[in-house]
Amino acid sequence: MAFDNYFKLEFDAKNVNESFARSVVAMFCTELKPTLSEINDIKTAVSEAVTNSIVHGYENKGGKITLEVGLAGNAVDIKVTDTGVGIGDIDMALQPFYTTKSQQEHSGMGFTLMDSFMNSLDVEPNTPQGLVVHMRKVIKG
Ligand code: ATP
Ligand code: MG
Repeated sequence: MAFDNYFKLEFDAKNVNESFARSVVAMFCTELKPTLSEINDIKTAVSEAVTNSIVHGYENKGGKITLEVGLAGNAVDIKVTDTGVGIGDIDMALQPFYTTKSQQEHSGMGFTLMDSFMNSLDVEPNTPQGLVVHMRKVIKG
C-alpha cells in the first residue's frame, strides 16, 4: 500500500515502552487533525496490542516489537508485530472475555477494544513466529 506518510520503529518489549508507543502514534496522526476522542481510541488500541506482545507474545521475558504506521488519505494504518509465541487459535483469541491469563488480572477484552475503537482489525501469524496485529481507522476529525 502506498502511504502519504509512513514510519517503522523497533523497540524493546518492556512495559515502559507502552506509553512511548501510543504517544508516538498519536503524534504522528496529528496531521490528520483527529478529535480527542479519535486520538484516545487509537492510543488505547495501540496500548492493547503492544501490551499483548509484551505479556503474551514474550511472556514478560523481553523481545522486539515492530510498530509501523502509515497515513493514507484520512486513514491511519497501524501494524504491531512481534516474534513471540504466537496464537494457536486466533478466532478463539478474538472472542470477548477469552484470555489465557485470567489469574493475572487480564479480562480478555484487548482484541475486543481494538476491534471496537478501530474500523478494522486483522490478526495474523507472523512468519516464522509471532503475531501481526493490523488495525485501521478513518479519521473524521
Ligand atoms: P486484557 O487485554 O483484557 O488484559 P487479554 O490480553 O488476555 O486480556 P486479549 O488482549 O483480547 O485479552 O487477548 C486474548 C488472548 O490472545 C490472550 O489471553 C493471549 O492468549 C492471546 N494473545 C494476544 N496477543 C498475543 C500475542 N501478541 N502473542 C501471543 N498471544 C497473544
Ligand atoms: Mg490484552
